[in-house]
Amino acid sequence: MLSQELETGFIRKNRYDYHLSEIIRQRAWVEIDQGALIHNVEQIKGLLSPETGLMAVVKADAYGHGAIKIAQTALEAGANGLAIATLGEGIELREAGIWAPIVILGAINTPEEIRAIAHWQLQPTLCNSQQALVFSDTLSKLEQSLPVHLKLDTGMSRLGTPWHQAIDFVNLVAQLPHLKIASIYSHLATADDRDSTEMNRQQQRFEEAINQLKSHGFSLPPLHLANSAATLINPNLHYDLVRVGLALYGLYPAPHLRSVTSLKPVLQVKAKVTQVKTIPPGTGISYGHQFVSDRTMDVAVVGIGYADGVPRNLSNSLEVLIRGQRVGQIGAITMDQLMLDVSNIPNLQVGEVVTLIGKDGDLEITADDWANKLGTISWEILCGFKHRLPRIMVNTSSQKLEKLSSLT
Ligand SMILES: *Cc1c(COP(=O)(O)O)cnc(C)c1O
Repeated sequence: MLSQELETGFIRKNRYDYHLSEIIRQRAWVEIDQGALIHNVEQIKGLLSPETGLMAVVKADAYGHGAIKIAQTALEAGANGLAIATLGEGIELREAGIWAPIVILGAINTPEEIRAIAHWQLQPTLCNSQQALVFSDTLSKLEQSLPVHLKLDTGMSRLGTPWHQAIDFVNLVAQLPHLKIASIYSHLATADDRDSTEMNRQQQRFEEAINQLKSHGFSLPPLHLANSAATLINPNLHYDLVRVGLALYGLYPAPHLRSVTSLKPVLQVKAKVTQVKTIPPGTGISYGHQFVSDRTMDVAVVGIGYADGVPRNLSNSLEVLIRGQRVGQIGAITMDQLMLDVSNIPNLQVGEVVTLIGKDGDLEITADDWANKLGTISWEILCGFKHRLPRIMVNTSSQKLEKLSSLT
C-alpha cells in the first residue's frame, strides 16, 4: 500500500493532507496537534459573548499549519467561518469540500477573479467604490449576487476606504445590484502594543463611521474589528465577530496577553538525525567554515534546512531538543541539512528525533524563541514552514478525540 502510494505520487499530491504513516516521518515533518487547536478554539470562544462569531483566519496555509485540516478542525470545534487572503487559498478550501462561509481579506480587482469568486461562492472584501463598480458590473453580467464585506481604513493605512468617507462608500454599495453587504469591518494596526492609545483612536473612528451610518438610517450589517490581540484584550472590541489567526495556533500576539487565557501551541517541527561523527579540534563545519571546533566534538547531521523553513540567519544560534536536552546548532544552516554539537548526548544514533519547535521532556522551544533571536514575529516564523515538510496530524489531548471522529 505504501509503496503504491509513493509510486502514484501520493505524497506530492497530498502535501497538506498526510495520514499518520511512518513513511513520512523519516526526514523532517510538522506535527499538528488537533486537540490543541480544539482547545484554543474553545478558549477563544470562552472569551466571546454567545452572540459573537469566531472567524478562523487560515490564510497562508493556516500560518504554515496546513489550511485544509486546520479549517476542518476549527469549524468542527465551533468556528463560524473562515478567512483567507487570496483567491487561490479560497479555492483550495472549496476543492477540499469545505463549504463554510469564506471571506477573502485581500483585494480583488479583476473581472476574471470576480467570476471565480462567484463560481466558488467566496465572499470578497470591497475596499473602495471603484472596485465595487467592477464587482457590480461583472456580477450583473453573470446574473449572480454575492455577499460582500466592506473595509474601512481607520488607521492601518492598508486596504479600505477612509473611515470619514464611509457614508458615500456604503451608500454606493447599498444601491448597486448584485452586492449584498454582509459586514463592515476595519483592521487594527497596534492591538498588540501595551499602549492602547492608537488602538483606541482606531476604535473611535470605527464608531464614528458606524454612528454616521446609523444616523443616515442604514440598518447595520455585522461589524468586526478584532484580530487575535484585540480579541484577547477587551470584549468591547469584539462586535459581531472576531477574526482570529495567531491565537488559534496557540501563540500570543504579545507577552503581556499571556495572562488572559491559556493557549496551546498547535505546531511542532521535528527532524531526524541522519549521521553522527566525531571530529578533532580545529575542524571547520559547513559552508564557509563559520564554526571551527576547539575540541574533539560529536557532531550530528539533521535532515532539515532553510528550504524547509529553518531560517539561515539562525546559524550558530539555533538550539534544538534531543532526549529532553538542549543542543546547540553549529556552522551555517544549509538548504536541506544542519549540524549539531551533540557532545553531551552519549551514543546518539541515526534516526533519533530532534525537536526544533515543540516540547521534549520538560523543555520547550517556541516560534517566539526563534522570532526573538531573529528580530521578527512568530507569525513570520510559522508561515515560513514550507510544503516540503509533511504535516502530520496528532492528538496529544485525547479527551477531545470524540469530536474528531467525523474528520478521521
Ligand atoms: C491576518 C489578519 C487577521 C488575523 O490576525 P492575527 O493577529 O493573526 O489574529 C485579522 N484580520 C485581518 C484583516 C488580517 O489580515
